[in-house]
Amino acid sequence: TTETSYFTTDDELIRKIFKPREDFSHKGTYGKVTIVAGSYGKIGAAVLSTKAALKTGAGLTFSLSPECGYTILQASCPEAMFIKGGDQYVNHLEIDESSVYGIGPGLGTNPETQKVVFQFLKDYSKQLVLDADALNMISDNKKNIKLIPEKTIITPHPKEFERLFGATENSFTRLELAREKAREYQIYIILKDHHTQVITPEGKVYYNTTGNAGLAKGGSGDALTGILTSLLAQGYSEEEAAVFGVWLHGKAGDHAAEKYSKESMLPTDLIDELGSVFEKLN
Ligand code: AMP
Ligand code: MG
Repeated sequence: TTETSYFTTDDELIRKIFKPREDFSHKGTYGKVTIVAGSYGKIGAAVLSTKAALKTGAGLTFSLSPECGYTILQASCPEAMFIKGGDQYVNHLEIDESSVYGIGPGLGTNPETQKVVFQFLKDYSKQLVLDADALNMISDNKKNIKLIPEKTIITPHPKEFERLFGATENSFTRLELAREKAREYQIYIILKDHHTQVITPEGKVYYNTTGNAGLAKGGSGDALTGILTSLLAQGYSEEEAAVFGVWLHGKAGDHAAEKYSKESMLPTDLIDELGSVFEKLN
């Protein structure tokens, strides 16, 4: 059918999605994440997405980044393992089929990076989150869009959405275009904005209810990528991960704003507040 159903992501829906951790479990129960992010001068994006993946509960987290980020990542995220993917930018990317991937934050758009990312998209067959420069590299040429594997979650902000799919007049026509594209490519689109919308391949639209203007800062989106990838690795479906992840991100942002104000809260604070959000859910 082509009928749209609209939902709001409220606490009741989240309680239905949330899977509490089990006593009889081990790190293998909670999956493996690989965050492909960072380039010289943008290693912070890799740190934020890696830390967010860890703090969302993945069993094992890897950070695939260029060598220039090695010390920074090992020191700031000691729980994550480092995989060298180049020197100043990523130009080498081996697929670990036992891992779920989140690709894009701070990655840069070097042609060598583009080449290995596109090859990855052709070869990879598990769950995937694409954000930031991964989307920007795809926007290079409209023909690239069909490289995005079905069921991938993409997380464009309005500008990235426009680069990918073209300009729209307002947020209503943008949502309509997103519904069209989600269906055409069978992907999940997280339209990041003041009230972020999650659009499924079947045309469902979820309006998120959490988040605030304190999130309007560089690095906020990088945290979301880590959260989403971590949820996929833990066995949430694409739809559950997208809806829950966006809600978690906004809710942790609300906690951070309460503590530090919208002005001063940083994406780092949001990541730290994930703990108090999970505490209330448990
Ligand atoms: P990015 O532009 O990739 O860093 O992503 C920004 C993140 O912050 C997205 O998750 C947005 O939904 C969120 N965000 C940005 N500005 C606002 C705002 N004014 N109100 C609520 N959320 C926002
Ligand atoms: Mg971003």
